[in-house]
Amino acid sequence: MEKKELLCEGKAKRLFSTEDPDLAILEFKDDTTAFDGSKKAEIAGKGELNCSISTILMDYLESYHVPTHFVKRLSPTEQIVKVVDTIPIEVVMRNIATGSLVKRLPFEDGKQLTYPIFELSLKNDELGDPLINEYHAYALDLCTQEDIRIMFRMTAKINAILRSFFERRGLILVDFKLEFGRHKNELMLTDEISPDSCRIWDKKTRKKLDKDRFRFDMGGMEQAYQEVLDRIGN
Ligand code: UDP
Repeated sequence: MEKKELLCEGKAKRLFSTEDPDLAILEFKDDTTAFDGSKKAEIAGKGELNCSISTILMDYLESYHVPTHFVKRLSPTEQIVKVVDTIPIEVVMRNIATGSLVKRLPFEDGKQLTYPIFELSLKNDELGDPLINEYHAYALDLCTQEDIRIMFRMTAKINAILRSFFERRGLILVDFKLEFGRHKNELMLTDEISPDSCRIWDKKTRKKLDKDRFRFDMGGMEQAYQEVLDRIGN
């Protein structure tokens, strides 16, 4: 399978059409951005690490009957994925309070949440991906009530599956962001699941093994992503 036209380019990935109208090629780039793209760098090897990690996690979710756009890995930095109509919403799930949550609300940083928190954001760079609730989503015609119900149910299931997957590997799944799309009328998980879109901490030391290393100039980002891959790879 070969890349044809560039369909869209995001901050960390490119999507290409193929000879099959139902399938596309998703390419993971080394580009890294944070704070709505205001901080940028190229981290050699990051694309390959995220492609590896996302392949493992998407495959694992599929084994639990979570529908995803992932078909198979094509090369170190490319996956074959189903072509979807993207729902322009980011669904964030939080198990531990940190990041933007503790800036907005009086939660103690690092506190285990009694109840996991779901959040929705509108995917809109110009507006800085603002937080929305489901009523904004319906009023903006982004999706139906049934879609939101399915997205919340899938997100809760993914959280349960991945939390215990990471836990068994000495890792804490702190929070993560998911995206969804529709392929032939089926709602499915799209995008990636990687340390770019999740916060992952070491269970014993609480060392950050995710993009916060880049956000806060902590260094060792590549090594951290490699550590996540090494732990989940076997
Ligand atoms: N996240 C993401 N893309 C975004 C915003 C957030 O992948 O555009 C992820 C982020 O990596 C973290 C979770 O969603 O795992 C919650 O992020 P938060 O709201 O704390 O935002 P941030 O700290 O990135 O401002």
